[in-house]
Amino acid sequence: EVVGKIGLISVEQAEQAIQAAKAAFASWRQTPVPERAGVLRKAADLMEKRRAELSACMVLEVGKPVRECDGEVSEAIDFCRYYADEMERLDAGHHYDIAGETNRYNYQPRGISLIISPWNFPLAIPTGMTVASLVTGNCTLLKPAEVSSVITAKLSEILVEAGIPRGVFQYVPGKGSTVGAYMVKHPDVHMITFTGSQEVGCRIYADAAILQPGQKHLKRVIAEMGGKNAIIVDESADLDQAVQGVVQSAFGYSGQKCSACSRVIVLEPIYDAFVERLVEATRSLNVGPAEAPSTQVGPVIDANARDRIMEYIEKGRQEAKVALEMSAPNNGYFIGPTIFSEVPPEATIVQEEIFGPVLAVMRVKNFEEAIAVGNNTNFALTGGLYSRTPSHIQQAETEFEVGNLYINRGITGAIVARQPFGGFKLSGVGSKAGGPDYLLQFLEPRVVTENIQRQGFAPIEGVD
Ligand code: NAD
Repeated sequence: EVVGKIGLISVEQAEQAIQAAKAAFASWRQTPVPERAGVLRKAADLMEKRRAELSACMVLEVGKPVRECDGEVSEAIDFCRYYADEMERLDAGHHYDIAGETNRYNYQPRGISLIISPWNFPLAIPTGMTVASLVTGNCTLLKPAEVSSVITAKLSEILVEAGIPRGVFQYVPGKGSTVGAYMVKHPDVHMITFTGSQEVGCRIYADAAILQPGQKHLKRVIAEMGGKNAIIVDESADLDQAVQGVVQSAFGYSGQKCSACSRVIVLEPIYDAFVERLVEATRSLNVGPAEAPSTQVGPVIDANARDRIMEYIEKGRQEAKVALEMSAPNNGYFIGPTIFSEVPPEATIVQEEIFGPVLAVMRVKNFEEAIAVGNNTNFALTGGLYSRTPSHIQQAETEFEVGNLYINRGITGAIVARQPFGGFKLSGVGSKAGGPDYLLQFLEPRVVTENIQRQGFAPIEGVD
């Protein structure tokens, strides 16, 4: 089914876009903040009006089930409204005045800003990164993931209709490895905001660090990357709640959320009971086309992803026990939810991000071991704990190395300004999206100090 047709820009067109952004910067940086914030609020209202169409486009373009697409439109709207408010707050700056001297602390935009987005939240993530960059006064180029370029084109239509001036925002669909890399290395680009895989994020970080001929600044890079998120279930947990939370966190959008649970760490006394119930609960999921209202698990994004995930499943068979392998339709890129049990802590399937409906269950003897196994990856994005033991909850709060920790609930579905989102270690560099520090990354702080002790006035000619 053809959802839309897109073109991919050439390197020459990317160059033209960067020059157009430079030309537009002088006036956008001086556009008053209420006016810039107004564009975001208008964009939010337009998304509200086009909610059904945007959802439908995501269902068809990236195979996300209907209900999750609706939630994603809400998140995109929240980003617009929240960052509009946040920029108005920051615009007040700070005053550190003393007698005889004013000290004014204010923010200015950085310049030309490149956004590189992933396909798995094809509307919310590019919207958040783009509007944050725009409202702070930067001229912004948005490069979507190739497989989600149609929905991003709709976001672009919305920003144009909301009144974003020409050159200030540009949609630059193109191939990451050529056009994306060219723009990352461009001497006129001031900052790059990336969300995607660790591999690409690390490469962009390195490329951006190289000073190019003619470049008069160092580039700022924000890189939100992958995860290998674990939920710990201790012996005091409410198993009904834990099973349901793990199933939703692991298999929602076929495990293709950066926050998805891909490891469950279960304490010995309840291990067997938990695995048995987890398998039965997972078996009841409906696997099918994303557009069917009853579908809970849709397809994965494309043939490459399907093949890569199948390789990990093969690897899992060698490393652990298959507890469940569900069948799936064979007329598309479907993979049935798969659970491995008795997985050793160094296994590939618990160390590498799989990005599919594959869950590894590990057995541990005590809570200390659970935390140690939880922390034993390169990532630190989301984590969860099901427990009714206050000392365990407290220990997890301080010792579980994750950017977002969820206690006695699922670990996906962060809400703007409620669960600001983002990780550390190899899950990323940068402040949390949807949180109070996010916009600061797009701004350059400046301080102006003036001695205002009376020192006479310069005479102006012609005035008595
Ligand atoms: P990806 O890294 O393959 O691609 C992301 C973007 O980078 C795409 O737009 C791609 O075209 C571009 N790109 C590729 N090579 C490039 C290069 N050399 N230079 C410049 N740009 C280049 O990621 P994906 O498959 O689209 O998304 C899935 C990944 O994103 C997962 O690892 C997931 O964990 C991660 N993710 C993280 C978060 C978070 O907030 N931490 C959120 C969503 C997704």
